[in-house]
Amino acid sequence: MGESMDNCVFCKIVRGEIPATVVFQDELTLAFMDIGSVNPGHMLVAAKPHVENLQGMDEALACAMFRSAARAARAIESACAPAGISVYQANGVAAGQTVFHAHIHVLPRWENDGLTFTWPVKNPPREELEKVAAQLRTAL
Ligand code: AMP
Ligand code: ZN
Repeated sequence: MGESMDNCVFCKIVRGEIPATVVFQDELTLAFMDIGSVNPGHMLVAAKPHVENLQGMDEALACAMFRSAARAARAIESACAPAGISVYQANGVAAGQTVFHAHIHVLPRWENDGLTFTWPVKNPPREELEKVAAQLRTAL
């Protein structure tokens, strides 16, 4: 086992070495309450294997992660009856990631709950979209 896994807080939770309030799990994912919950019912779905980010997930893990996020959302819907649900997933410091073990936030939302997110729309011309899309297709 690599050193990053020894020191990783979510690996420690997966191994049961530090406490967590677990809601459900399956072979590849563990869903537990976020210790810094923004709203009541705020859950994290973490990968059981140590992968740093979305880009590091193989197909089976990516499928399992989103399946568990949907399961968490259904549980939140039933138990918390929120006005909405946000899904948030950060990859890299610039994206706001603070725990470098892949996880998805599933977050009950209410009107004016204080969570804000700026979305600086650029509306680039079609040619720019086409140019980046071509680069992305090549990268697939
Ligand atoms: P981010 O990497 O920005 O998605 O944020 C990591 C999230 O993990 C934060 O919302 C923290 O509150 C949460 N977190 C960090 N440590 C723990 C822990 N030991 N148990 C539960 N949640 C945690
Ligand atoms: Zn880890």
